[in-house]
Amino acid sequence: MLVIKHEVVDKDNNHLYNHFYWWCIGCNDVHIFANNHSPNYPGPDWEFDNNYESPTVNPSILTNQNYNGEPHPCHVFIKQGMIQYLSDSWHALAGQTVAMVELPDWV
Ligand SMILES: [Zn+2]
Repeated sequence: MLVIKHEVVDKDNNHLYNHFYWWCIGCNDVHIFANNHSPNYPGPDWEFDNNYESPTVNPSILTNQNYNGEPHPCHVFIKQGMIQYLSDSWHALAGQTVAMVELPDWV
């Protein structure tokens, strides 16, 4: 079962980023982390072990969303296919660790 989807995105004319999508059960929404290896163009650079079934990603991923004008931070570690929700996450899974799930077809 694949829990990460990869896509190469061209931002700002030929600055290629790897976007990695994963499904957040706590937010019931898709989240993303990214890296880029353009040497002269700094950007987000999460370390991913290229395991699409049981991924490990470093460092933690903080997703800042706005629902109805209110901030809803979601903060996780992803380790060996498990999502560890940190206590500063807005939803009920804060402080819990759950297995990653497959992305829906529309992602
Ligand atoms: Zn989330």
